[in-house]
Amino acid sequence: MRDIRRIRIRYTAGVVCIFLCISLLLAGCQGRAGEVIPVLEMTETDEDTEADETDQMNEDQGENREGSSEDMNMDKENAIQDVEYDPDQEFYITEITDEIFARMDGKSYKPDCTLPREDLKYLHVLHYDLHGEVQEGEMVVNTHIAEDVLEILRELYDAEYPIEKIRLVDEYNAEDELSMEDNNSSSFNFRFISYTTTVSKHGLGLAVDINPLYNPYVKTVNGMQSVEPVTAEPYLDRTADFPCKIDENDLCYQLFTEHGFEWGGHWQGSKDYQHFELPSEKIREWYP
Ligand SMILES: [Zn+2]
Repeated sequence: MRDIRRIRIRYTAGVVCIFLCISLLLAGCQGRAGEVIPVLEMTETDEDTEADETDQMNEDQGENREGSSEDMNMDKENAIQDVEYDPDQEFYITEITDEIFARMDGKSYKPDCTLPREDLKYLHVLHYDLHGEVQEGEMVVNTHIAEDVLEILRELYDAEYPIEKIRLVDEYNAEDELSMEDNNSSSFNFRFISYTTTVSKHGLGLAVDINPLYNPYVKTVNGMQSVEPVTAEPYLDRTADFPCKIDENDLCYQLFTEHGFEWGGHWQGSKDYQHFELPSEKIREWYP
């Protein structure tokens, strides 16, 4: 009988022990969870709230969030340096002044440039970068599309459409590959179409490239696939979902086509997903 009692006592003690252990574990978890909430509440400043809103906005726009901790730090820095821009003052068109021409001369405006300087215009714009921050942008385009491109970029800005950079290609010594690798959106860069005396549409400032890294130019040369920029391999699968992808559902596509531009993504054979240009018939009216 004593043995049976001892076994019962040990059994009961064992059950109580297990029960206590489980209770302690549960209490521990709750305790930890309970601790986290006040800490977050205490550290949540206006800045964090702004950064969180920016993050949310970026997610909504399906932006590139690679290296998120680094991005979060950048978001915080940008939030601190927040500059107030008045869009009604910042979207404007000017002539190519001597100052602007000095930046282009010998670069995008090459020594053999056949396009009169008067046929070009300088656009100053604002755009949202990939971190959801407002940046100033500059673009040189043909005078015939200046108003249209300014309107398109204004509508993209109002929609907070992400465009990483809008800088003069001259900042890349007018080297397209470098500009594209840097995901820089641009238009004018004088050149002839290879092996011809015909000026290319970018050479006339009548074509615009948007977010070129995510929207590469894919063509087949001598049976080999060529990708521009060469770093855009990860974005060749156009059925995949990734940030800044231009397709027919994209706002950028919709605005440019509404303004009479054709999209390089519709070309047969090669595809230029970053590229919008005026139809050749239209261009021949001005440059026969
Ligand atoms: Zn292009």
